[in-house]
Amino acid sequence: MRLVLLGPPGAGKGTQSTRLQDKYKIPQLSTGDMLRAAVKAGTPIGLKAKAIMDAGGLVPDETVVGIIAERIDEPDAKTGFILDGFPRTVKQAEALASILHAKHMDLDAVIELVVDDRALLARIEKRAQESIARGDAVRADDNPEAFRKRLESYHAQTAPVSAFYAAKCALKAVDGMAPIDDVSAAIERALHERKNAAASTRAGGA
Ligand code: ADP
Repeated sequence: MRLVLLGPPGAGKGTQSTRLQDKYKIPQLSTGDMLRAAVKAGTPIGLKAKAIMDAGGLVPDETVVGIIAERIDEPDAKTGFILDGFPRTVKQAEALASILHAKHMDLDAVIELVVDDRALLARIEKRAQESIARGDAVRADDNPEAFRKRLESYHAQTAPVSAFYAAKCALKAVDGMAPIDDVSAAIERALHERKNAAASTRAGGA
């Protein structure tokens, strides 16, 4: 199964991706995690991405497309993957479509977690406080100013990605304000609907 999870920062993509990874035994590919690992390792990509990420901006499309293209070629992604945090721009979505097309692959579902902005800010503040309570480092971009910038980037550049997939009839919206288990259940329902729709198309139905 090849799946994209869309939604604003703090929508719960990471939480739900981890659950889907365990359930379907396919890797969660988070560009945010990969970029943070590159920053930590001090690779050339990490060195370039750090300031952009800390300020809440978006890393250039070519950079993240390159990372994803390499990652989905790895053996563990052969049977499927969950993309979390990618694509974040229409250009990235188009690049993903051509990468998959060249491999004769397609996405099985695109799921958008819908959460309103005010709830997101509260979640991010909570995540920062929980990190402090655990004695972990707080993400450099989990502060109100960078967060506002991340939300702005989301509305300006990532919200159009939903329209891109909606036009292809591939998008399913799920209420991300619901409790975590309810969100997981709604994602499962959306995946089954997609599967049934694909089966009926193959069988020549509507
Ligand atoms: P969140 O979803 O909580 O904002 P992520 O962990 O997905 O956080 O991403 C953190 C940061 O990494 C983003 O704010 C951005 O700077 C960068 N990033 C991650 N994925 C992409 C992407 N697909 N395109 C551009 N920048 C990205």
